Amino acid sequence: MGKVIVQKYGGTSVGSIDKIKRVAERIAEIRKSGNDVVVVVSAMAGQTDQLLQLAWQISDHPKQREVDLLLSSGERISCALLTIALNAVGCEAVSMTGRQIGLQTDNTHTRARIKQIDGGLCKRYLEEQKVVVVAGFQGINEHGDVTTLGRGGSDTSAVALAVALNAEQCEICTDVDGVFTADPRIVPDARKLSTISYDEMLEMSGLGAKVLQLRCVEFAKKFNMPLIVRSSYNNKPGTLISREDPKMEQPVVSGIMYDKNQAKITVKGVPDQPGIAAKLFNALASASVSVDMIIQNISEEGHTDISFTVTTEHLKDAMAEVNKVNEEIKAEKITQDAGISKISIVGAGMRSHSGIAARMFETLSRENINILMISTSEIKVSCIIDEKYTEQATRTLHEAFDMKTAPVANAEGNPQDSKIKV
Ligand code: ADP
Ligand code: ASP
Ligand code: MG
Repeated sequence: MGKVIVQKYGGTSVGSIDKIKRVAERIAEIRKSGNDVVVVVSAMAGQTDQLLQLAWQISDHPKQREVDLLLSSGERISCALLTIALNAVGCEAVSMTGRQIGLQTDNTHTRARIKQIDGGLCKRYLEEQKVVVVAGFQGINEHGDVTTLGRGGSDTSAVALAVALNAEQCEICTDVDGVFTADPRIVPDARKLSTISYDEMLEMSGLGAKVLQLRCVEFAKKFNMPLIVRSSYNNKPGTLISREDPKMEQPVVSGIMYDKNQAKITVKGVPDQPGIAAKLFNALASASVSVDMIIQNISEEGHTDISFTVTTEHLKDAMAEVNKVNEEIKAEKITQDAGISKISIVGAGMRSHSGIAARMFETLSRENINILMISTSEIKVSCIIDEKYTEQATRTLHEAFDMKTAPVANAEGNPQDSKIKV
């Protein structure tokens, strides 16, 4: 086998017959240059949402096993259509489902984790000089049932396949030119990053930059598979995501992310006693609700308030659990707010710079944007704000951290940033 190239095309890139034909021509060109090509596709834009709506028209709680079978059909359609388009332009290609590539997952329907891939059949087709087109986002569990990998999961299928086939790199082809300092749809003068480390990208994906699914980056980091995010429509170099390298750009802040998919629950007036938080968060954990930020107010007259955030999909389940636990903990009031968003700044250079969080808070306060909650890690600061200020906060922070311009490396290879005082 020659050099294997794995490319993934997202939903917008295969969103119409014309686009599928364009992608087919592009792949045929790459094949002509003598490389073995494996292409992973997402469902055509909007299709996964439409399929979900169909299920919800029938039931509020469809069985997850059946949802998986339904959703996996979206990727099968685009996979078959792209293969037909490749064959039509004279490029021999063959379509494969998750089952056919031997993508084995655990049993968690709708957000399964990949356990292994037996790329045997895929390799055989490559040896026959065929382009292999794979339906992304899907696998099978130990019972042979179809599973899906969570929203945006075709990214993860592509990386896993690149690892299984020993590819040199995995290219994620999408509707933007790479990974930017902020969502280019919100910040028009966002700057494309030429390189970024796995760790920074993990933070960015975890904080809402949907350009790469979080698990895809985890997988790439674990197996040290270089990832390239690039446009499906042009040949610009895109963004390389790989191990941290001393030569890599190390701006103090390399990206600004937002996540509107957040909700806040406040449990007011609970007794300030040992065991209360444990009861509350144990109940949430056993209902598989992941909690992100938590704050507890200073106790007043033996009572306190606890607020925490969950994703909007988990809000209903979280409220049900909190109401159940409340029979024991006897809070005065429980409130929920789905109209919030999380805005975050990320940068490996934060490790060695101080004053970044303060600058973020000051910028938001200048815009009169109230901060509801704060959390920090070594390389990120996140604030919960009112959802209606998301775009304004993203643009203003982008400007305040002067992210339009690339950092300049000094003699020690560290960024010189005259605007950020440390
Ligand atoms: P695909 O359908 O190709 O998987 P997605 O919609 O999942 O594409 O991801 C691409 C989108 O991610 C872009 O259209 C862009 O709006 C959004 N995005 C959010 N943050 C960023 C960022 N920092 N850099 C690039 N794109 C981003
Ligand atoms: N079609 C799935 C989704 O919309 C998976 C993907 O696009 O990667 O989430
Ligand atoms: Mg995606």
